[in-house]
Formats: sequence, C-alpha cells, structure tokens
Amino acid sequence: MTAAAAHREHARTAPDPAAVVDLRGVRVSYGQDPALRGIDLRIAAGEQVAVMGPSGCGKSTLLHVLAGVLDADEGTLRVLGEDLGRLREKDRGQLRLARMGMVFQFGDLIGELTLRENLTLPLQLLGGRPARIRAEAEAMLERLGLGEVADRRAARVSGGQAQRAAVGRALIHQPALLLADEPTGALDTVAADTVMDALMETVTEQGTTLVVVTHDNRVAAHLDRLVGMRDGEMVG
Ligand code: ADP
Ligand code: MG
Repeated sequence: MTAAAAHREHARTAPDPAAVVDLRGVRVSYGQDPALRGIDLRIAAGEQVAVMGPSGCGKSTLLHVLAGVLDADEGTLRVLGEDLGRLREKDRGQLRLARMGMVFQFGDLIGELTLRENLTLPLQLLGGRPARIRAEAEAMLERLGLGEVADRRAARVSGGQAQRAAVGRALIHQPALLLADEPTGALDTVAADTVMDALMETVTEQGTTLVVVTHDNRVAAHLDRLVGMRDGEMVG
C-alpha cells in the first residue's frame, strides 16, 4: 500500500476524536428485515443536522442507535467520545441522562405533572440543589414563553405548549447532544414553527450538537446541514 493509500485507509477507519457522532458501517435488522444497511455518519460538535427521508426509511431506528437504546448488529458507533457498543448498560444510561436530551413526536410529558414539574425532573434525577433546580426551571420556562402556563398540568395545555415544554425538559441540563424524532410531527404549522424556533434558539445558545429526524421540509429548513436517508441508507 502506498503512503497516500494508507493515509486514506486510516482516515476511513480510525475514529475521529473531534466528532460527537461517528458511525461506520452500522447495520441493524429487526429479525430478518434490515432497517439500517450500513450507515456512515460523522457529526462535529455544535453541528445542527436534519436527517430527512420518507416514512419507514430508518430514521427512528438511527436515533435509537445514537441514543444507545438499540444495539447495532454490525459496524462501530462512537457517540460523545464513547464506544457505545462496548459500554455497559448502566454507563450508557448515565451517558444518556447526563449528556443527551431527547424530544419525541408526542412530547411524552407526564400529563399529571405541571409543566414546571416536568422540566425539573432531569435535574432532580441528576441530583441538583432544590433552589438551583427551581431557578433553572423558571429561566427555561420564561425563555420558552411558558411562564404563564408553568403551573398547569401537562395534559391541560396546547400541543405546541406541551412540545415546547418537552424541548425545555430535553435541554434543561445542557446536554452536549440533542436527539429529536419528528419533534413537530403532531402539530399544525404555526405551532410547529414556534417549537422549532424555541428549539433552535436554545440549542444555538447552549452550543448543543443537534440531530433532528424528520420528513418535513419546513423543519429541515431550520437546520444548517441536511442528510438524506432512503431505505436504510444515507443518500446525497
Ligand atoms: P422511520 O422512523 O423513518 O419511519 P423506522 O426506523 O421506524 O423508520 O423503521 C424502519 C423500518 O424498520 C421500517 O420498515 C419499519 O417497519 C421497521 N421497524 C421499525 N421498528 C420495528 C420493530 N420494533 N420491529 C420490527 N420492525 C420495525
Ligand atoms: Mg420514525
């Protein structure tokens, strides 16, 4: 092998220490059905990436792999500097809790709790001081325009308000990586825009690396890098 070829081979296979996400040849199947057919994806710190593709192309599967809740059958995946395939379950859980945030299509707030209580949950799990937790929740609720409805139960607010609170809950502990799965998929376009504006503003201010999967061009337009996906593969 020539020196140049060796260098290219090294660049292709060696982990990229600066990348927040570094996936090589990741394959996942559900039984016999392949959902990811060899995904290569590198995302640098602070990048804001939209992964776009039609329903069923593997977007949610990709996010589950990134979050470490689904194992890859093949390939290597480094996320936040950790080799997810080698981490113990307990350490993966800790990585997720401390350094990742997640937003889902249907918010998944606890309906019986107020928005304020929903927002404080991650900080309580991480063990902050009560006064500090209260102050941080208050600040996040204000910045998301939820001050007036902070003490309403999550089941009693509009879809857009609930989804903004879900964004707040995902970002309140200032995670390094935010994973969002069709975060506005259940909203009308007006509410969707307010949620994406709130999400992008907070992420940009905190310097969070962002991966949003969506099939919606309007959502993708908020982000600065676009990655296409089709039938379990990256395209374009
Ligand atoms: P997307 O989020 O892009 O709609 P998914 O990642 O949910 O796509 O699904 C990719 C493929 O894997 C689809 O063909 C889907 O039917 C299949 N799939 C997803 N989840 C499961 C599961 N838990 N069991 C079996 N097949 C699944
Ligand atoms: Mg999906």
